[in-house]
Amino acid sequence: MENKILGLHHITAIAADAQRNYDFYTKVLGLRMVKKTVNFDDPGTYHFYYGDEHGTPGTILTFFPWEHIMPGRAGTGMATEITYAVPEGSLEAWRERLARFNVSSEIKEHFGEPYLSFTDPDGLQLNLIVPKTPDTRAPWQTDEVKADIATRGFHSTTLSLKEIDATAGVLTDIFGYRLLAQEGNRYRFITDAVANAGIIDLLALPDGQRGHTGAGTNHHVAFRVANDAIQMEFREKILSSGLEITPKIDRDYFFSLYFREPGGVLFEIATDNPGFTVDEPLEKLGSSLKLPKQYEPARGEIEKVLPVLK
Ligand code: ZN
Repeated sequence: MENKILGLHHITAIAADAQRNYDFYTKVLGLRMVKKTVNFDDPGTYHFYYGDEHGTPGTILTFFPWEHIMPGRAGTGMATEITYAVPEGSLEAWRERLARFNVSSEIKEHFGEPYLSFTDPDGLQLNLIVPKTPDTRAPWQTDEVKADIATRGFHSTTLSLKEIDATAGVLTDIFGYRLLAQEGNRYRFITDAVANAGIIDLLALPDGQRGHTGAGTNHHVAFRVANDAIQMEFREKILSSGLEITPKIDRDYFFSLYFREPGGVLFEIATDNPGFTVDEPLEKLGSSLKLPKQYEPARGEIEKVLPVLK
């Protein structure tokens, strides 16, 4: 496996109501819940993972639903748009589908690619885009969301920044991305290491308000590496660039490193190994509450405080 950054691994955001979040992502958008676990740093809170059938890196959107959290404000120093690839000709069907669930949406365009722009129930900005080169990843399908419209996984994410140069330097000099195109204050970076989920847009907003973490905002953006040996090579590169980075952390389904890039966005580097089938079979992914072993003795208490999903 190549010792490169392989595009996006997952994106994590914050929600308020767990049930509302679950309904929106599994029923309206038709994603698969591939893991229902808890926040390893705050086990009284769920950690939901939504993705394709396998929870393939590059398709995974995760949430911490904190029931009493105040709404956040998207702004500089965070990822402010999460964009999924969808098939050509599906945007109108999506617009009608979202409208049936009282979600208003608007068709826009960047770099010649049309996309549908809308927000989730907490105000998180989502886009469904039709890439110029069709995305060939196999979709997860539900009764209502079939392959003709289903999301294929991430196309890109947009980072809003007061100043893009230092962040661009991390992408190009450490992560192996290159500048692909510019449109106004939007700078598109891409890695050639993967065919999908390889785009990061940097939006230069010198007068932009700093983002404020809360419901409906991004928490961090995780980049993908094949395994933890390669991950540790990146740890050395990041340290030698003068940035601080955590030690390797075991997240049960992948190993993680976290660092704050100079523009303020929390970046993670996450591994493909061991993956989501480590504690339940593929056909059962997401169907029961999975706890890391340190919390298993407290399962009874944890289940009492977590909201019951219908
Ligand atoms: Zn993460």
